[in-house]
Amino acid sequence: MDTRDLSRAALAGALALVAALGGAQAASAQSRALQSIKTVVIDPGHGGHNDGAQGHRGSVEKDLALAVAYAARDQLRRDYPDLRVVLTRNLDIDLSLPDRIHTAHMAEADLFLSLHMNSSTNLEAEGVEVFYLSTDKSMPMVTRGEGTWGQAFEDPDEGVPSGAMRHGTSGDALPRILLDLERARSHADSAVLAETLLEELRRACGGCRNRGVRQANFGVLRGSLVPSAVVEFGFISHPTEERRLIRDETHKRFAKAISRTVERMDAIFAAHEY
Ligand SMILES: [Zn+2]
Repeated sequence: MDTRDLSRAALAGALALVAALGGAQAASAQSRALQSIKTVVIDPGHGGHNDGAQGHRGSVEKDLALAVAYAARDQLRRDYPDLRVVLTRNLDIDLSLPDRIHTAHMAEADLFLSLHMNSSTNLEAEGVEVFYLSTDKSMPMVTRGEGTWGQAFEDPDEGVPSGAMRHGTSGDALPRILLDLERARSHADSAVLAETLLEELRRACGGCRNRGVRQANFGVLRGSLVPSAVVEFGFISHPTEERRLIRDETHKRFAKAISRTVERMDAIFAAHEY
């Protein structure tokens, strides 16, 4: 390399640095600070031997759920540099229901979102829906081929990690009352979370069918003590919807909807705290 090449290389390096700094400034101009939410746990449904639903074009629910989780993690980290984003699984591995709940508990999640793709034998079924926990024990279980993921717990405390009973020993009446209060507050916030997320997802997907917010006895929701929701982004059994759900562009739209939901929930939580 002669001196001219060296100076060219130095100039190219300097230009790259300027571009990088410009990019960093642009990123910080868009990034925002959250007041109340410190940690979001995202749970890509299924994994490993549990494929979940399968589409006619060969798409597999566990892979799409993970792809949306990656997109959401990246979007949230860009938008809120101080936010901690934890995925219950980063790879295509088996993960039990208690492990998913345990991760949310250990990470001290402020929000918990479990991501799924829907499927039906009715090929015309389509649209987005968001679930939060039902307190009605007589409500039928919704399993939809979710395997062990969709099991309801008989006892509402089953599936709650023992460390979550952080108000004392279980023989005491006070910890039970405090736990019930915590659960009631979390349940009310979960309803708001589900409504907010559905609204943002519908805005993001532009005209996809609204199947609404619904309540279900999903074990992954029952075991959680933080505001939680299960998202079914759409039906991979529907030929047109499957085509849309496998696109990176769609995953990025969902990620932005999740990010906006986090921002709106943060404002709601901040108002709770005055
Ligand atoms: Zn699923």
